[in-house]
Amino acid sequence: MNQNDALEELQKQVVRRNPAEPEFHQAVSEVLDSLAPVIAKHPEYKDAKLLERICEPERQIIFRVPWVDDSGTVQINRGFRVEFNSALGPYKGGLRFHPSVNLGVVKFLGFEQIFKNSLSGLPIGGGKGGSDFDPKGRSDNEIMRFCQSFMTELYRHIGEYTDVPAGDIGVGARELGFLFGQYKRITNRYESGVLTGKGLGWGGARVRKEATGYGTVYFVQEMLAAQGQDLEGKEVTVSGSGNVAIYAMEKVHQFGGKVVACSDSGGYVYDPAGIDVDLVRQIKEIERGRISEYTERRRNGSDYAAGGSIWNLPCHVALPCATQNELTGDDASALIRSGVLAVAEGANMPCTPEAMKLFRDAGTLFGPAKAANAGGVATSALEMQQNASRDSWSFEYSEQRLRDIMVEIHRSCFETAEEYGRSGDYVFGANTTGFSRVADAMLAFGVI
Ligand code: NDP
Repeated sequence: MNQNDALEELQKQVVRRNPAEPEFHQAVSEVLDSLAPVIAKHPEYKDAKLLERICEPERQIIFRVPWVDDSGTVQINRGFRVEFNSALGPYKGGLRFHPSVNLGVVKFLGFEQIFKNSLSGLPIGGGKGGSDFDPKGRSDNEIMRFCQSFMTELYRHIGEYTDVPAGDIGVGARELGFLFGQYKRITNRYESGVLTGKGLGWGGARVRKEATGYGTVYFVQEMLAAQGQDLEGKEVTVSGSGNVAIYAMEKVHQFGGKVVACSDSGGYVYDPAGIDVDLVRQIKEIERGRISEYTERRRNGSDYAAGGSIWNLPCHVALPCATQNELTGDDASALIRSGVLAVAEGANMPCTPEAMKLFRDAGTLFGPAKAANAGGVATSALEMQQNASRDSWSFEYSEQRLRDIMVEIHRSCFETAEEYGRSGDYVFGANTTGFSRVADAMLAFGVI
């Protein structure tokens, strides 16, 4: 069997063995599509069945999360932790609380995380977890009871040297506080390095909150710089208005670009004068409100559209920072027609396979999630370093470390693509670099 046939057969096997998990199939296919040249160059990977092993999680945990709501009614949710690969370090990846969470979604995120964490160059393996719990509209007390119940099962599977969860959609500083409190209470250990994204007063790291958004923009700046350009004066569209989106917008403005639109799951705002990031932060991060309130409070003639696609707005740079598969083939065509220069995935897998193909065929600079948004998990690994040494770094030093890491991720993706004659193909560069480091470690460990 030749290389391409073997990879196709493996993809079919993944679909057969993991039925009804379309997001996981998509994530695997996106990585395998890049790997034929690497496998051809390294037959030892094939002999050791590394690809087959890497597609199979080391451990998958599914558990019941019972809790009582404010009206006294018992609620049952489902909790997940997929410990995907520990070749490079303890499993590392966030927890997502959202009604769309199921095993396939957690596996797609965990699989992506293996290669992203490898690209960061730091000693962290890949994992992901979460629950189908919907935090929207829940009181602080309900969130606390849910988090305590979730941790009452999860605590036995995690640890500073085993598995280190963090936040993701629906899990921010408030939820991490409740989770860490319960872990500490059950284990009687102040084990700071067991969770990242913690509050600054109890083991958290400076720049962690900003890291994913800032890192994505550093990556864009590097892609543009490789073409002799920069963000100065560029119009930028950012989807979402959560953690990643807010700090991506802030960094774009610091680089002299102008963010003209952002969104939430209800619709988007278009503000040709430039999005007021402080106002978005006030509405979404502090008040947990809706982005529709922006136009009323901004009072400068900005528009709100309920529904419709934010990607129909012309822009130089597009940063999808909301959720998976939010940017479709039609959206990509609209962006290409309006002359988009660069797209970088702040969210995980926000572009559909069709959209990715269109961007790559059109020669649009395209930063895939596992490279572009790796700054978040990289800064989580820096948080673990600070916890291990009982230290706390300054904002400036932490940001410099983040910046250096993003420059290095860009360099390694860019140079790997060049080495294989795929100049400018960051998807290929990211998959190949991320995979090779994990594969080499797995090879060294033998068949385990
Ligand atoms: P948040 O929960 O803070 O924010 C998500 C944002 O996306 C919210 O504004 C939400 O709106 C919006 N949203 C959800 N669905 C849609 C949609 N269909 N269209 C438009 N907007 C939508 O999550 P994060 O910012 O932390 O995460 C965003 C993405 O980034 C996820 O894919 C996550 O996995 C990824 N990521 C996050 C990292 C981190 O450090 N936080 C690290 C690496 C990746 P609403 O308020 O209406 O729900």
